[in-house]
Amino acid sequence: MKSFLTLGETPHQFLDEIKQGSGIDLKKCYQCGKCSAGCPMTFQMDYLPSHLIRLVQIGARESVLSSSTIWVCVSCLVCSTRCPKEIEVAGLMDVCRELAIRDGLANKEQRKIQHFHKSFLEVIRTNGRLYEMLLIAKYKLGSLALFQDVEKTPKMLLTGKLKLLPHKVEDTEAIKKIFEDCSK
Ligand code: SF4
Ligand code: SF4
Repeated sequence: MKSFLTLGETPHQFLDEIKQGSGIDLKKCYQCGKCSAGCPMTFQMDYLPSHLIRLVQIGARESVLSSSTIWVCVSCLVCSTRCPKEIEVAGLMDVCRELAIRDGLANKEQRKIQHFHKSFLEVIRTNGRLYEMLLIAKYKLGSLALFQDVEKTPKMLLTGKLKLLPHKVEDTEAIKKIFEDCSK
């Protein structure tokens, strides 16, 4: 039978690590499944959100941190809003992504998702709102996924989904200040 525990670890070590890093107490989860029932991304996940939490509870660190679940989560917060125990499930996904990167458990495809998140935030920091052309350029150059979805570009341009010029907010300095404050 497969052991989920890393050699030398106790089941509670991972639970405690999550709690120390985020304040999220997964001991409170009683596996009602409401988070999983509302999640719009389960069709792409290897573990349902509630199953992922159960894996944390039993100390299955590597299974959690190498799962697709933590990367395909789109941070919509449905799970966190629905949880009767007020567990920040979406926040858990964030913490797990950080741990997976730190521990080198994110694979090549998952690092592309990380790169997309970074590119998205850089565009918002510069423009104050999304500028899809710049996002695509940053993502493709950084991830080297140069030809990914390239065939969709003409249709997106024709239907106005991609704008050639950016529409910045007036006070971009205020946006930069928000980013600076959040980084402290
Ligand atoms: S909704 Fe809350 S208590 Fe229920 S399974 Fe999800 S995290 Fe656990
Ligand atoms: S925040 Fe993530 S895990 Fe929660 S419901 Fe949305 S996609 Fe699913």
